[in-house]
Amino acid sequence: QLTLVWFRDDLRVADHPALSAACAEGPVIGLWVREERDADGAGPRPLGGASRWWAHRSLEVLAGELEALGIPLLFAAGRAGEVVPQVARDLGATAVRWTRRYAPASVALDASLKESLRGAGLAVHSHPGFLLVEPADIAPAGRSHYQVFTPFQRAAGEIPVGTPLPPPPAPPPAPAVSSAATCGLDELGLLDGTDAALSAATPQWWADTVARHWEPGWMAAEAALAEVPERIVGYRTGRDRPDRESTSRLSPRLRFGEVSPRQALAAAEASEVPDVDRSAWVRQLYWREFCWHLTHHVPRLDTEPLRAQFADFPWAPDEESARAWQRGRTGIPLVDAGMRQLWESGWVHNRVRMVVASFLSKNLLQPWQSGEQWFWDTLVDADEANNPVSWQWVAGSGADAAPYFRVFNPETQRQKFDPDDGYVRRWVPEFGTPEYPDPIVDLAESRRAALDAYAVVKAR
Ligand code: FAD
Repeated sequence: QLTLVWFRDDLRVADHPALSAACAEGPVIGLWVREERDADGAGPRPLGGASRWWAHRSLEVLAGELEALGIPLLFAAGRAGEVVPQVARDLGATAVRWTRRYAPASVALDASLKESLRGAGLAVHSHPGFLLVEPADIAPAGRSHYQVFTPFQRAAGEIPVGTPLPPPPAPPPAPAVSSAATCGLDELGLLDGTDAALSAATPQWWADTVARHWEPGWMAAEAALAEVPERIVGYRTGRDRPDRESTSRLSPRLRFGEVSPRQALAAAEASEVPDVDRSAWVRQLYWREFCWHLTHHVPRLDTEPLRAQFADFPWAPDEESARAWQRGRTGIPLVDAGMRQLWESGWVHNRVRMVVASFLSKNLLQPWQSGEQWFWDTLVDADEANNPVSWQWVAGSGADAAPYFRVFNPETQRQKFDPDDGYVRRWVPEFGTPEYPDPIVDLAESRRAALDAYAVVKAR
């Protein structure tokens, strides 16, 4: 008996049903694959630059923790449909376990892999752990899935989530076996900056700059989890203030599974947080569930508008304005602060994400897909569901979306949510000096142009 646990978006040891089940059975070997998509597109979206940096660091920490349990963690690169069966065969594994994933292209890959491994005589088990509610477990009467958040949360909130599992006891020692398909973590090339979007950022740049803001890995994640109660007191109103530390900053931890959503929920429930703040925060955890529910049921949400009438939207792609947005040089202080926070720290406050996304898609009329891709490359929490669904929500083409005529005014937003300019000054030190650029668009005029463009959609 030897179980291969294939780690994906679950880089933790506690509350890990697949790992716990494996450890209860016998010796365990772990595997992580830097995946390429199959020729037919099956498999997860390839990691963006910031995510690759995060994954590399997080895997270093996970490898150390698994070693303490006597579990080796192996690495490989390529198409999982080929690599996983090869590694399992070389090691002489009798079973393979993994935590389920939900994007249609990943579901397709996992399903065919399950079949081929079983065909080769292995036992294969997939486990929950990435979400509170399986996306296929709830649906409104007569339909395949929810399109609106509130009824989704009502139904999802009824499903019991259980208590987080403790870390498993060490399994019997794994035999010394090897596979020609595996390599060292460093050889995966996760730290090589190869994205076109990030060509200006060298690997060293990421290591130096983003690392000042984050410590990946489950140990720091547990510390972040312990801080949840104090961070979310006052969340209901404070969550909109980018100048304050009033959100949990758990997003990259949840994205990479350094903490489970069940652990996050338990952290908020066990605490002395006022009910209004707790329920406001838990609601956001369910927004993550909703994004995954939609993504599971609607293919290609990352590139195609959910509402079909947006397919021919009259975007006006323009490299220069997109570039000014990416680099935080639009002359609109809150937008520039947000885009520089993103570039330098790999994360942006939610309110500011909405403002910068609205500015790009509405005031600059750039396709939301180009902003989504930039976020995908630069966010440490870049998530296959939350990112496209949120972009579509802001652009107006998504489920339960902001109405098309809602164009955030970044100046009003700044006055309201950064009243002392503390956030803007932190990220745009030259704000208020002659070096700060003039606005690249007139806010009122570009708002009118956006409304004209959106009227075309409305007429369809
Ligand atoms: P908290 O406020 O502490 O919330 C707790 C957790 O709930 C978060 O960690 C996150 O997992 C979840 N959550 C919170 N808000 C949302 C939301 N609106 N939608 C879905 N889940 C939410 N979130 C990502 O995790 N990855 C992304 O790639 C991503 N891209 C976004 C793009 C745009 C244009 C916008 C407007 C939002 C995006 N979000 C994304 C959602 C949200 O901005 C972040 O989850 C949040 O800012 C993370 O900070 P936090 O962990 O402190 O959140």
